[in-house]
Amino acid sequence: MNLSYWEYKTWLSNIDFTVVGSGIVGLNCALRLHERFPKAKILILEKGFLPQGASTKNAGFACFGSISEILDDLRSHSEEQVQQLVKKRWQGIQLLRKKLGDSNIDFQRLGGHEIFLDKDGSLYNECLEKLESVNELLQPIFQGKPFFEKKNIFNFNKVKDYYISHKFEGQVHTGKMMHALLHRVQKNKAILLNAVEVEEFIENETNITVKTNLFEFKTKKLIVATNGFAANLLNESIKPARAQVLLTKPIENLMVAGTFHFERGYYYFRNIDNRILIGGGRNLDFKAEETIEFGVSELVQNRLECLLRDITT
Ligand SMILES: Cc1cc2nc3c(=O)[nH]c(=O)nc-3n(C[C@H](O)[C@H](O)[C@H](O)COP(=O)(O)OP(=O)(O)OC[C@H]3O[C@@H](n4cnc5c(N)ncnc54)[C@H](O)[C@@H]3O)c2cc1C
Repeated sequence: MNLSYWEYKTWLSNIDFTVVGSGIVGLNCALRLHERFPKAKILILEKGFLPQGASTKNAGFACFGSISEILDDLRSHSEEQVQQLVKKRWQGIQLLRKKLGDSNIDFQRLGGHEIFLDKDGSLYNECLEKLESVNELLQPIFQGKPFFEKKNIFNFNKVKDYYISHKFEGQVHTGKMMHALLHRVQKNKAILLNAVEVEEFIENETNITVKTNLFEFKTKKLIVATNGFAANLLNESIKPARAQVLLTKPIENLMVAGTFHFERGYYYFRNIDNRILIGGGRNLDFKAEETIEFGVSELVQNRLECLLRDITT
């Protein structure tokens, strides 16, 4: 593509930092760079017409690990490592809320609930047995005990009479959150260019030459924030993990409110605008879901529909 003198000079010369990918990580990275280097010229390149990865497609759970996930983690990590992981999740959400404001992202602390299907009795018993010790472990992070038993007040079917709930979990409106983040980034005068795909980069001693589908330019530093697509640019063994959600039609007088997990976090659902959003099922075929292709898996779709019907009707 031939660029005019003005186009090149204004948008693509003297770039201090180029961030590839405008998902939640790329945008937060640009914000942080601006905080640290207020005079730096920051360019963000995004291949989609909107951010086109997980950040605009996710379920909007502000969650820190359900009790069965924590117990799973404790099997392969030390207590200190698990504490650190949960602490980072907690601090990340606090930072996001502080930066963007709760009303701009519709943050609601409605609580998170792990529900146990009747068939998962032994997992349920294990979680109950270890509830107090997990609370002890996480109390310093939340300044309170996060987990407690809660009656099945939403009358889900084929599940145990009590959920194990997390007091501090909440939900956000994913679209509003990304919109607010984009707004913040542009207010800081970072340059965001959409529909530009970075294809390759070559490092020299003083700078990096970046080749895109439309043009080539130089930058002093390059940050790749492309999540599951990273292996296309970096020589790293990063595997994508696709996920799928489905949304019901509006349901009159919907009482369900909050975020819910089950089957060790492989399935999850929440309320949004009088609808239920349900997702998960990657565990049905891990290999097939290790893909960067967008699309609907019929296997996952059928399972999600079936679970939703079983639990709610
Ligand atoms: C269905 C689903 C539900 C989820 N639910 C939750 C949840 O409830 N709570 C939670 O905390 N997390 C959830 N997640 C995970 C969360 O969404 C991700 O961890 C997060 O969005 C990752 O952000 P990111 O910026 O790293 O990646 P992404 O949002 O994937 O951003 C990467 C960006 O890079 C762009 N890109 C890729 N290659 C190039 C290139 N070569 N040139 C230019 N641009 C490029 C892509 O278009 C994309 O916009 C969910 C994920 C999915 C898929």
